[in-house]
Amino acid sequence: MKAFQLVAPGKAEITEVDVPEPGPGEVLLEVTGSGVCHSDLHLLHVEGLPFPMTLGHEPAGRVAAAGPDVTGWDTGATAIGYLAWGCGVCRQCAVGAENVCERFPRAFPPGPGLGYPGAMAEYMLFPARALVPLGDLDPVESAPLADAGLTPYHAIVRSRDLLTPSATAVVIGVGGLGHMAVQILRAVTGSRIVAVDVDPARLRAARTYGADEALVSDGDVTAAILDLTGGVGADVVLDFVGSQATMAIGAATIASYGDLAVVGLAGGTLAFGGEITARGLPWGVTVSTPYGGTRRDLHEVLALARQGRIKAQVERHPLADAAAVLDRLEAGQVQGRAVLIP
Ligand code: NAD
Ligand code: ZN
Ligand code: ZN
Repeated sequence: MKAFQLVAPGKAEITEVDVPEPGPGEVLLEVTGSGVCHSDLHLLHVEGLPFPMTLGHEPAGRVAAAGPDVTGWDTGATAIGYLAWGCGVCRQCAVGAENVCERFPRAFPPGPGLGYPGAMAEYMLFPARALVPLGDLDPVESAPLADAGLTPYHAIVRSRDLLTPSATAVVIGVGGLGHMAVQILRAVTGSRIVAVDVDPARLRAARTYGADEALVSDGDVTAAILDLTGGVGADVVLDFVGSQATMAIGAATIASYGDLAVVGLAGGTLAFGGEITARGLPWGVTVSTPYGGTRRDLHEVLALARQGRIKAQVERHPLADAAAVLDRLEAGQVQGRAVLIP
């Protein structure tokens, strides 16, 4: 079968590999769609990955075969795949939080396209436990829910106590994850939503997803956010870029006792502490770096999609164009999420 593999640092290409066989506890999925995440661009430059490695951690597919002891997965059933394959038995995995499995302390737990062979291929193996039935959801357009839906959902529910009707939530970067974050905020909170991006087209789209305000990410954006909040700042800032520039915006606009969640992995840093008059962050701010979401969160995301309250904007591309799609993503040309179809 064809697979899009990371073959060397900075180098990914379509290769020919064997169709895998499902062993005990495993399901073979015929991939129907594989979302392309900005993290795939970061992975091109991460050290210590096994080569070759098939990319793709936003999988949706159809059951092609199941391992000898697997029950409950009939051939032809459609499913979405959970992106973190923890040990399944530790304290965190016991509540479905395999994204922070204790077998991989202070690190990324492996998952499809994140250590194991991923979804940018015609077929892939899944631990049966890590699949969730799609039911009547579209098997191509649902693929981005596996990460672009899951990760913002997780970040948002962690701050749920702060996201009251009088609160303001700022979403920095309304691309693949951010355009879902706006919809999820609209669906699960009554808070005012402020979208921030460098791209006016994405800001226009963000308004259609439910953003109340849409601000260009330039030198004036900090003042604009403070103006909108009477100088108080935003209760919650969700940063889906994580660069030096966006983390500076977050630090300058988060309210006292607010939540600043840095989801993006663009390598920015945040300084705080120091002199009493210049401490970098106002009182009581919680800074977090959430990773993915729990298995339970994935069920909740699918429920929102079934209710018609969230929907990824999807660009469909053939798997053979994977390299060109990564270039498009890097150039900021993808609208919503690109999904590769084998
Ligand atoms: P994307 O490329 O689809 O979207 C990024 C968006 O940020 C784009 O709309 C872009 O225009 C905007 N942007 C860029 N610079 C900006 C700036 N200075 N100010 C405001 N907006 C700006 O990327 P994505 O797939 O949504 O991923 C976003 C980030 O989240 C990536 O760094 C990715 O690696 C990371 N990520 C983290 C997790 C996690 O679990 N922590 C999960 C998935 C993705
Ligand atoms: Zn991702
Ligand atoms: Zn575990």
